[in-house]
Amino acid sequence: MSQDFREIIDDTEDVIVEDAVIDEDDENDDDYEQVCMMCHRPESKAGKILTLPGGLNICSDCMQRMFSSMEQYGMPEIPGMGGAPSFMGKFEIPVQQGNNSERQSASEEKTDEEKKSKKNNQTPIQGVHFINLADLMGGDMGMPRRQKVKKKKENTEPKKFDRGEIPAPHRLKAMLDEYVIGQEKAKKTLSVAVYNHYKRVCCDPSDGVEIEKSNVLLLGPTGSGKTYLVKTLAKLLDVPLAIADATSLTEAGYIGDDIESVVGKLLAAADNDVEKAEHGIVYIDEIDKIAKKKQVSTRDVSGESVQQELLKMLEGAEVEVPVGSNSKNGMVPMMTVDTTNILFICGGAFPDLEEIVKERLTTKSSIGFQADLKGRLDHEKNLLLQANMDDLRKFGMIPEFLGRLPVLVALEELTRDMLVQILKEPKNAILKQYKKLMAMDEVMLEFEDEALGLIAEKALEKHTGARALRAILEEYMLDIMYQVPKDSNIGKVTITREYLENTGGPRIELRGQIVPELPGV
Ligand code: ADP
Repeated sequence: MSQDFREIIDDTEDVIVEDAVIDEDDENDDDYEQVCMMCHRPESKAGKILTLPGGLNICSDCMQRMFSSMEQYGMPEIPGMGGAPSFMGKFEIPVQQGNNSERQSASEEKTDEEKKSKKNNQTPIQGVHFINLADLMGGDMGMPRRQKVKKKKENTEPKKFDRGEIPAPHRLKAMLDEYVIGQEKAKKTLSVAVYNHYKRVCCDPSDGVEIEKSNVLLLGPTGSGKTYLVKTLAKLLDVPLAIADATSLTEAGYIGDDIESVVGKLLAAADNDVEKAEHGIVYIDEIDKIAKKKQVSTRDVSGESVQQELLKMLEGAEVEVPVGSNSKNGMVPMMTVDTTNILFICGGAFPDLEEIVKERLTTKSSIGFQADLKGRLDHEKNLLLQANMDDLRKFGMIPEFLGRLPVLVALEELTRDMLVQILKEPKNAILKQYKKLMAMDEVMLEFEDEALGLIAEKALEKHTGARALRAILEEYMLDIMYQVPKDSNIGKVTITREYLENTGGPRIELRGQIVPELPGV
């Protein structure tokens, strides 16, 4: 490979072309302990855990208890097994049929055949059928695939979060600048909020001064970078992050996800390490969807009730979460996670909030100037930046909920120039990804500024922010990515505005020779 391409690939070292796939099995098994599937106690509490065929873990207490209940049902004892039925190889439990007296008389009348089959480790007892528990649980019966939790280190103090690990706000903002275009106010506010949050985690409350939690509420149009900002922040801080969707949350007992599932996701992101999860970040997206419903005749189980249930968790509570599954049931081990030091960031587009802000601003102005101001506000794009807690209350968020999200920050709507910057400037910019892909074939890829402008304009028309950029580029790049590797003489491809407008082709330069257009591409 020539020096030039080596440089492109080296320059784009930080560019990740595809989302990284995390190998779930890539963990050190020594750090984890098994959990009994019956009593949900980990190995450190329950003692030795046996693994039965089918991958089921059970502690000796529960095993003993099971034997006792089997004996109660008149299970025959197998000599030399201390009461353990020989069919434990298959781990079956009896399903009782008929009443006790019938069962007793039936067992008294054992035939030769039964005795023979007993020898062969089968125990056909009249009136008793067997089901294979392992078969039942092996399927989708709610049994988590990973019945393990991270071992708590013995005789060690829980690891204190080291303040030195958290960069100062100005450094954090500078790091965010490398990834996120614009949104200066949001980056600055988040950097300070996160810095203060982790200072709070490390501080000693013994002097009576307890720093309150600085959970954040992000407002911003769709595709303006709310999720991206939080994801980048978590990556830079190297803390686990869970992203949950408020639309799927419902009041406990109703169809939908329970509130605890949010913390369950964080625990999974922290590899079931409770201590790590307790210093993580939870991002709840689409928070505007749980606003109080106006004029509801039935119980508002996915709106106001969800806000009510979230209150405790946002402030700090001990939450019982299922390990390795997002539903609670008898089969799933539970862990207790303290949410006091978890940073909660809620985000939403709040579509009708602009109208509420506009109304507040016009009613505030003196009579006579109202019509004038209203006309001006109709053309104002970033009204969300002027939203306050009162507007949010009018929108349907309950005051107690807003009180637990003291940091309010709005993101601007992306402009054409910002979209062009997003295409080419961030560390993992889409153009850098395409350039890296082409460089692997020793082909240089360039985009004319006019072409980038057109892509940005097309994205603006879709009203989905920066999210539209990738889809638009994919469409145009398909032919290029298909045709160019066919011809090993091609050295450079420049995407022109004419190509995007379908009035011309891309500019192709052969290795050492320039050709204006490649027909058929
Ligand atoms: P939302 O505000 O709806 O949560 P996202 O954060 O999911 O939007 O943004 C979608 C994608 O758009 C992100 O993955 C990111 O690549 C890109 N993006 C959005 N805003 C920005 C920005 N300000 N700077 C860089 N990339 C951005």
